[in-house]
Amino acid sequence: MATYTPMIQQYLAVKAQVPDAFLFFRLGDFYEMFFEDAINASRELEITLTGREGGGEEKIPMCGVPHHAADNYMSRLIEKGFKVAICEQVEDPAEAKGVVRREIVRIVTPGTVMDSKLLGESVNNYIVSLVNQAHGYAFTACDISTGELYTTHLPPSWELVADELNVYNPSEIITNQALLTTIRESGAAWGRNMVLTEWTNADEALLDEHFAEDAALADLSSISRQGVALLLAYLKETQKRAITHVKHIRIYEPDQFMTMDPFTRRNLELVETVRERAKKGSLLWLLDKTVTAMGARMLRRWIEKPLMNVARIEERLEAVNLLYNQLIVREDVKQALKEVYDLERLVARISYGNANARDMIALKHSLQQVPMLQQLCATSGSETLRKLVENMDVCDDVMSWIANAIEDEPPVSIRDGGMIREGYQPYLDTLREASKNGKQWIAELERQEREATGIKSLKIGYNKVFGYFIEVTKANMSALQEGRYERKQTLANAERYVTPELKEKEALILEAQDKMIDLEYELFTELRDRISEHISRLQKLAEVIATADVYQSLATVSAAQHFRKPEIGEGFDLEIMDGRHPVVEAVIQDGSFIANGTSLLQEQGRILLITGPNMAGKSTYMRQVAVICLMAQIGCFVPASSARIPVTDRIFTRIGAADDLIGGQSTFMVEMMDIQVMTEKATSRSLVIIDELGRGTSTGEGMAIAQAVIEFLHDQIGCKTLVSTHFHELAHLEESLGHLRNHCMAVKESGRQVTFLRKLIPGAASTSYGIYCAEIAGLPDAIIQRSYALLNGFEERAAAAPHVQVATREPVAAMTTASAEPVAAPIRQLSLFEEDSPVEVAVKKKHDGKSQLVLDQLKGIDLINMTPLQALNLVYEWKQKL
Ligand code: ADP
Repeated sequence: MATYTPMIQQYLAVKAQVPDAFLFFRLGDFYEMFFEDAINASRELEITLTGREGGGEEKIPMCGVPHHAADNYMSRLIEKGFKVAICEQVEDPAEAKGVVRREIVRIVTPGTVMDSKLLGESVNNYIVSLVNQAHGYAFTACDISTGELYTTHLPPSWELVADELNVYNPSEIITNQALLTTIRESGAAWGRNMVLTEWTNADEALLDEHFAEDAALADLSSISRQGVALLLAYLKETQKRAITHVKHIRIYEPDQFMTMDPFTRRNLELVETVRERAKKGSLLWLLDKTVTAMGARMLRRWIEKPLMNVARIEERLEAVNLLYNQLIVREDVKQALKEVYDLERLVARISYGNANARDMIALKHSLQQVPMLQQLCATSGSETLRKLVENMDVCDDVMSWIANAIEDEPPVSIRDGGMIREGYQPYLDTLREASKNGKQWIAELERQEREATGIKSLKIGYNKVFGYFIEVTKANMSALQEGRYERKQTLANAERYVTPELKEKEALILEAQDKMIDLEYELFTELRDRISEHISRLQKLAEVIATADVYQSLATVSAAQHFRKPEIGEGFDLEIMDGRHPVVEAVIQDGSFIANGTSLLQEQGRILLITGPNMAGKSTYMRQVAVICLMAQIGCFVPASSARIPVTDRIFTRIGAADDLIGGQSTFMVEMMDIQVMTEKATSRSLVIIDELGRGTSTGEGMAIAQAVIEFLHDQIGCKTLVSTHFHELAHLEESLGHLRNHCMAVKESGRQVTFLRKLIPGAASTSYGIYCAEIAGLPDAIIQRSYALLNGFEERAAAAPHVQVATREPVAAMTTASAEPVAAPIRQLSLFEEDSPVEVAVKKKHDGKSQLVLDQLKGIDLINMTPLQALNLVYEWKQKL
C-alpha cells in the first residue's frame, strides 16, 4: 500500500469502510471507481474500463461516471440489488494541503432509496431488521421514503417471521449472520430478491433520543427496542443524517390480523398473480380504484393484513356502505382526491432536504383540497368518515406559507431563482427592482446607441462568458465612433463591443442577480426547514386522506361489480349465497360466471369434500370462498347476493401450482410440509382449503393420507374445510364423519357430449374424465379402450358401495362448458398427469404397484437393439403381470 499515491491510499482507506458497496469516489467532475469495483461496475453498467497510474507496478483498473449523470448510474446499480457509497470532496481543493479530504456522505442501498424514480408509486419500499432471542423475534419494517415504521414481537417460530417477511416484501433485511443464513436457506419460499446485510450494531441511546417525543417508545418490549434501535443505527450509518421524518413507532400484534402463509398469499393471488407475478389479475388489481399513491399503498397493506376485530371491520364497512350508496358523495370525494399528490413522500423529501419548489406547489395544491374533503366526509352521514376527519388538522398555516412564498410555476432547480413571489421579502424586492431597472436602462441604452450611430440592427445582448455587449454587423462597423467602443468578441459577420458605462451597469445588474439567487435559495430553504417542523401533522393528514381514498376505492369497485355488504360476526357459521370469484368474474367479463353458494356450519357440515372432473371449477370455487372471507375482513363488500362471514384467524390453502418446487423437493414433499404446518397452526376459527389432496404419490398412499388428514381436521381441529380430490372413493367418509358433506361440480353428459355446468351440487362425482383426457392427448386407441375396460371392471366392484353413483361409461366425444363452448385446449388438463407422461398415468392410475413394474421395465428397454421376438416375449411377460 505504501507504494500507492496518496490519493489511492485515501481511496483504499475509504473503501475499507464499505467493502460491500460500490464506492463512487469524487474526483473533480467525475465519480471514479477503482480496482474490483471498477471491473464490476464496468460490467454492470456497460461503461469503459480504463487504467490509471497509482504508484503501483501496474495500472489500477478504473472507470468513472460524470457527476451530473451519476443518479442514473447509481439507480441502475441499486435496481440490480447493489449498494452505492458516495464519497465527496469535503474541503475546497484550493485550500487543501496535500490530498483533498474526502468522506462518504451517503450510502444508498435498495432498502434506503429516496429517489422517486426508483420507487414504485403504489408500493412501499421496506427495509426490515430482525433480532432474535430465546423468547422470540423482533420484526421491524421501515419505509424511509414515507416515514412509516412498524414493529412487532413474534413468538419463537420461524414461520411467523416468514409470514411477516411475505407481507412487507422488503428490499433489504438487516440482521445477524445466523439469521441471514436461515433467510438464505428458506428464501425461495417467498422467492424474491432482497439484499441481505449483516448488521448487529443496535444503538439504544440513539433510539431514546430519536423517539423521545413518541409515546410508543415506552411500550416497546426489550427485544423490540433492540430491533428498532438496530434499524435506526443502520439508517444513521447509511444516510449520514437524522431520519427525522420517521417520527412514530407503530407497534402491532400479529394476531390483530388474519394469518396467511406465503403460499396462501400467492395462491390466492392477493397482490400479484402466481404465473406472471403481475399486479394485473390479482385481487389488488381489481380493488384498486384509488386516486392517490398513498391510498394505493394503504389498500395494498389492508389486503395484506385483513383485520380480526369485528368492530374495526364494521367501522370500515360502514364507510364503504355510505360511499357505495351515495354516488354523488363518492364522486365528489374522488374529485377532491385527484388534486392530492403523494403527501407522504413529499413530506419525506421536505424533511430530507430534497424537496424543490415544485414539490412545495404540489404540497400546496394537495392542502387546498383538504377543507373540501373534510366537509364531504363530515357531512356524508357516515359515522366512520365523520370520525376520520373530526380532529383532522387541515394544515392551512403550511398551505398559506407556501402560497405566500412560492410562485405558481417555479423552476425545477432551486439554485437559479425564480421561485419566490414578489412581496414576500422586501430586500428581495429591492434587488429585483434594481435588476429590473438595470435591464430597462440597458433597453434604453440600446435605443440611444441606435440613434447615435444610425445603425438600426445594433443590439445589446448577453451571454455568460462575456456578459453584456453591443453587437454590430460587420457592414455597419464603420459607423461606430472611434475610441468609444472596446472590441470584445468577433463573430463571422458581427463584432461585439463594450463601453465603460455598460461594464459598470453590468456589474450592478449581475451583482443584484447573484444576490437575488442566493437570497431566494436562502428563503426557500428557510421555508422548507420551517415546514419540516410540522411533519408529524402532515403525516397524520396524509394518513387520513389515504384512508378516505381506500374507502372510496372499495365502494367504487363494490358498486361496479355488484358486491354486497357482508354480515361479519364472531360465530362459527359461514354462509354465502350466490358467491362468485371476484377476479375470475371480472376477467370473464361477459357475465357468464356461475354463482355458487357455500354453507359451512358448525352442526350441519363444516367440511366439504368436492369431487368433479378437471376444469369443472373446483379450485375456482374453493379460492372464491377464501377470497370472500378475506375481502370481508378488509372491510370490503363481497361478490355474493348475501354473506354471513365469521372472523377467520387463518386461511390455509394448499393449491397446486406448477412452480412450487423448492430447492429440489418434490411437489408431494412440499404438500406434506405445508400440511404439517397446517395441522400445527390451524384452529377451529381457521379456513383450510386443499386442492387435490394426496396427489403426487401412489393412489393407495395418496388416498390413505387424504383420508387421515381429513379425519384429523374433522376430529382434532374442527375448522371449516374445503377439500377437492380425485379419489371418488373417499366419498364414503360422509358416512363416518358427521361434519363432512360430499359435493361435486355438476357435469352434464348427453350422448358423447360432456358439459361443465360449474354448479356445485350435493353428492359425489363419479368420474374424472381422466381417460377422456388421455384420449385427447393422443394415446393409442388400444390403451384408451383397455383403460375403459379396466375402469368399468374396477367400478363394477366398487358399485356395491352405495355412496358412489356409478355410471358405466362410453368414451365421450367432446367436453363443453356451460356456455356450450367446447373446451379449446383440453391439453391443459395434463396437470392431471403431474410429472409423469400421459401413458404412465393412464395406466398407473388404476393399476399402481404392478403397472409400476411394467413401466419401469418399459422405460429401461433398448428398442433399437431388440429383436421382434424379444419384444413379443416381453409383452407376454407384462401381460402375465397385469
Ligand atoms: P378445476 O379446479 O376443477 O380443475 P378450475 O377451478 O381451475 O377447475 O376452473 C377451470 C376454468 O373454468 C377456470 O379457468 C375458469 O375460467 C372457469 N370457471 C371456473 N369456475 C367457474 C364458474 N363458476 N363460472 C364460470 N367459469 C368458471
